[in-house]
Amino acid sequence: MTAQIIDGKAFAARVREKVALHMAWLKEVHGITPGLAVVLVGEDPASEVYVRNKGKQTVECGMNSYEHKLSDQTSEADLLALIERLNADPDVHGILVQLPLPGHLDEGLVINAIDPAKDVDGFHISNVGRLATGQKSMVPCTPLGCLMMLRDHHGSLSGLNAVVVGRSNIVGKPMAQLLLRDSCTVTVAHSRTKDIEEVCRRADILVAAVGRAQMIKGDWVKPGATVIDVGINRVDAPEKGLRDDGSVKTRLVGDVEFDSAAQVAGAITPVPGGVGPMTIACLLANTVTACCRTHGLPEPDGLTA
Ligand code: NDP
Repeated sequence: MTAQIIDGKAFAARVREKVALHMAWLKEVHGITPGLAVVLVGEDPASEVYVRNKGKQTVECGMNSYEHKLSDQTSEADLLALIERLNADPDVHGILVQLPLPGHLDEGLVINAIDPAKDVDGFHISNVGRLATGQKSMVPCTPLGCLMMLRDHHGSLSGLNAVVVGRSNIVGKPMAQLLLRDSCTVTVAHSRTKDIEEVCRRADILVAAVGRAQMIKGDWVKPGATVIDVGINRVDAPEKGLRDDGSVKTRLVGDVEFDSAAQVAGAITPVPGGVGPMTIACLLANTVTACCRTHGLPEPDGLTA
């Protein structure tokens, strides 16, 4: 068997189109332009790349983008004061604080200072609780993207056995909640799970969010299963040669050993080009959704959980 490749790049482009259409309607009919504020504290190079990409895509789809770059010496009081201003700003519909924060800042305190209605990352404790209790909430972007691709591929997920490998607050746990909400039978595996290969082999839907390069092999996959690979891992790629400074070039791989898994699975997301592009697309979707909820207007179809 050779799996169908789930093209996250193309899917993300369709999500952005839907967002842009709804944006145009909000502007033309209601004179509202959604706005996303992104707060970056410090100069972590990876975070700077993410924030740049987010800002670019926000503007491309017609939203207002507000970037707040703060020094890594910023005090908690100053950061909380900025969040308070953004909470009160009617032009800002979504607020995202790029994680990780420098060590002297309390991430929980900062995230929970964001107005839950503007918490487009879905990390506020009230959104976490609402998701867990089946109420309308802002949903974390990466699991939301995975859910959209799964619904698109399967139609109904009801009754399917889903295994999520990883139990982080940003991917594993919300993914499990979303699959449960769609009536899957959900197992969450983690570093202490016994016979993890066997657990994975029972999955009709296998979501890997571990952060370990190519850990999940083809013989862990049930024939015909749908495999969603959230992992982003950089590994040496000597076949690509050396950089100018003599170091070995690298490439991105997922948590799933793609070549062997694709021989067994029914469908699989590649890395790169699978879940990754969906994350920013879902951030834009969440911002439009937040804007619509604030103004009591209809939300875009198919872009929420
Ligand atoms: P975390 O490190 O927060 O969580 C990893 C989870 O994997 C933990 O629950 C851990 O278990 C579990 N785990 C670690 N080792 C094993 C093992 N040997 N067997 C079984 N389970 C194990 O990672 P994140 O959830 O933040 O991210 C996971 C991956 O997804 C990373 O590669 C990250 O880069 C990627 N990612 C991709 C995104 C995208 O946009 N595509 C967005 C966010 C993340 P335990 O709890 O027991 O320690």
